Amino acid sequence: MAFADARKFKGHHVVKVTASERITPHMVRVTVQGESLHRLPVHGFDQWFRLFLPNPGGVTDFSRVPEQFGFGAYMKYLRTKAGVRPPFRNYTVRSLRPDVGEMDIDFVSHGDAGIAGPWAAQARPGEELMILDQGRGFDLPDDATEVLMAGDESALPAVLGVLRDLPAHIRGHAIVEIPDAADQQEVEGESQVQLDWIVRDHSDTVGQAALKAFQQLVPTAADTAYGYTVGEQQLASAGRRHLVAQGVDKRRIGFVGYWKRGKAEA
Ligand SMILES: Cc1cc2nc3c(=O)[nH]c(=O)nc-3n(C[C@H](O)[C@H](O)[C@H](O)COP(=O)(O)OP(=O)(O)OC[C@H]3O[C@@H](n4cnc5c(N)ncnc54)[C@H](O)[C@@H]3O)c2cc1C
Repeated sequence: MAFADARKFKGHHVVKVTASERITPHMVRVTVQGESLHRLPVHGFDQWFRLFLPNPGGVTDFSRVPEQFGFGAYMKYLRTKAGVRPPFRNYTVRSLRPDVGEMDIDFVSHGDAGIAGPWAAQARPGEELMILDQGRGFDLPDDATEVLMAGDESALPAVLGVLRDLPAHIRGHAIVEIPDAADQQEVEGESQVQLDWIVRDHSDTVGQAALKAFQQLVPTAADTAYGYTVGEQQLASAGRRHLVAQGVDKRRIGFVGYWKRGKAEA
């Protein structure tokens, strides 16, 4: 499974907010519950989904959401009037408890701009959302011995999910840039991957401090390394270029720009 496979996933899950809490200065954890979450496939690692949100100031009609998000279905969704179709953004499963039909989602609080970040900051119990499973992006080759990862705070749930699920024999390095030292979260997992939290200066552009640190990393053996660079677009793509320059095959790097500076998602 990789980011490229997401379109094959199918199936809606309607959930309700049961709790929301600011867990660190820049992260809000929203807990949702739904009968169908008992059946949500558990992909682990950086499992992600499309999250359909309430229409700001309008009526929310989840029947407008396609069951699968291939190109045609996406075009159809876009043809539905804005204000009628529920807006969506992409999020990572922070933790999933299928036995009780519950999931936590960690939202970066990045200010007043946008839909998902500001919504999460005000989320109220009882609000309805819809989730469309998209599998996972992290696609560790069988022969991998080492993992090199970089991300910003939007990638924190993904990187911590990967660290939680990596096998014990995997070595490597992960770099996560955060706005404040208090945005660190507890790390679980048995792998030998070392996580470095990089706290950026308030005047720094998001992702640049992580990139600088990532560019110092050299794989022990490029042919058995796996790279993973996600978060702000420039961090993800420049991080990938660094690994390619170090001899890591492009097919052994999972990378996605999670968001672009100054540009809202569709
Ligand atoms: C596979 C995948 C998994 C993701 N998982 C998570 C996750 O678990 N948690 C999470 O918080 N995000 C996650 N993201 C990123 C999230 O989808 C984007 O940040 C999204 O743009 C947020 O939507 P919004 O409505 O808040 O802002 P938008 O309407 O998209 O953007 C409004 C403005 O805010 C800026 N902006 C957007 N995101 C950020 C940010 N993080 N920091 C600073 N400025 C920002 C934009 O540049 C724009 O100027 C993930 C993205 C992908 C592709």
